[in-house]
Amino acid sequence: MAQNSARTAGRHFLQIPGPSPLPDRILRAMDTPIIDHRGPEFSKLAKRCLDGIKTIFKTTNPVIIYTATGTGAWEGALVNTLNAGDRVLMVDTGQFATLWKKMAEKLGLKPEFIETDWRTGADPKLIEARLREDKNKEIKAVCVLHNETSTGALSPIAEIRKAIDAAGHPALFMVDTISSLASVDYRHDEWGVDVSIGGAQKGLMLPPGMAFNAVSDKALAANKNSKLPKSFFAWDEMLTMNKIGFFPYTPATQMLHGLIVGIEMLHEEGLDNVFSRHERFAEATRRAVRAWGLEIMCKDPKYYSPTITAVMLPEGQDADKFRGVALDTFNIAYGASFGRYTGKYFRIGHLGDINDGTLVGALAITEMALGLSGIPHKKGGVQAAMDYIVSAHSGGARAAAE
Ligand SMILES: *Cc1c(COP(=O)(O)O)cnc(C)c1O
Repeated sequence: MAQNSARTAGRHFLQIPGPSPLPDRILRAMDTPIIDHRGPEFSKLAKRCLDGIKTIFKTTNPVIIYTATGTGAWEGALVNTLNAGDRVLMVDTGQFATLWKKMAEKLGLKPEFIETDWRTGADPKLIEARLREDKNKEIKAVCVLHNETSTGALSPIAEIRKAIDAAGHPALFMVDTISSLASVDYRHDEWGVDVSIGGAQKGLMLPPGMAFNAVSDKALAANKNSKLPKSFFAWDEMLTMNKIGFFPYTPATQMLHGLIVGIEMLHEEGLDNVFSRHERFAEATRRAVRAWGLEIMCKDPKYYSPTITAVMLPEGQDADKFRGVALDTFNIAYGASFGRYTGKYFRIGHLGDINDGTLVGALAITEMALGLSGIPHKKGGVQAAMDYIVSAHSGGARAAAE
């Protein structure tokens, strides 16, 4: 909010890595009378959603739609496939990986954490090495985040699949794709993922309140033998009811109206265009950060995230204070920092329904806020971002990135 004023003019810059800005078209689609969730009109709507969402996960298998946030779909993945005391292999890529691990502990699982310094992604080689040591096949699932939203690191899911296969290990493969789905290429079937976990409020451009489990045949088989307690999140009743276009309980009907339109919009733009748009935003942002003389949280370019860039501030600077100044003065929201890095970085989300102009506006605000906060930096970040965007549109994108 602008200082000393009851009104803030113009649009809020929502540059957090989800929820992402809600497109007017989705908002309008949700602004419609409530229908009977046991009636014929609803069944048509639900079937369109259940089919449509498969095209986003790139699967021909069922996708469960929960009335929950992403956290609920994490729980759904674990409780539907595993048993008390099962070992699960996870990678400590950041805050979200830590939260998923804590959930696994609360549910009676035995998570094992491959440590990182939070400035990289999940290394397939380390996963393979750990699985090779597990001679008795005690590890029942490998759980990784495709995109670690708290730090801005993207992990190579196809490579991790190959690593699991190379180790000859039968563990289930579960992937959190909440802040990458519909922004970054993702292939549930081709990459042999057993449970893919998605959320509505990031790449799918919906409000928070809907989440997904895409499931493989192997996950469905594991479901038959899984005895962890489950009720609301149980797959079996859901799948039975979904076949006829219904849910075991009242689903978020307005969210389903929005979901149809969100999927439509993604296909109208073309998924590959959506993915290259996000890559362009990310590269432009990184060039701005480097030109400012600041450090990108993710140290290894192999793991750079297309949807969020975390920016380290120089030693002694307070990133939370910086975010406060930027919000008060320029009406922009950035993502916060976590754990041992609390106060040391801020995150620029660049995902969902935004364009080059939105991004350049956000970067310009960032450069102004750095100046206003007295944070040592060089000028010219916005110029570097604009130069890159122009080169990307003139077909020089590949050459420039190399
Ligand atoms: C946002 C997010 C979550 C948590 O989802 P909620 O909708 O807040 O429950 C989990 N994992 C990742 C990678 C996320 O980005």
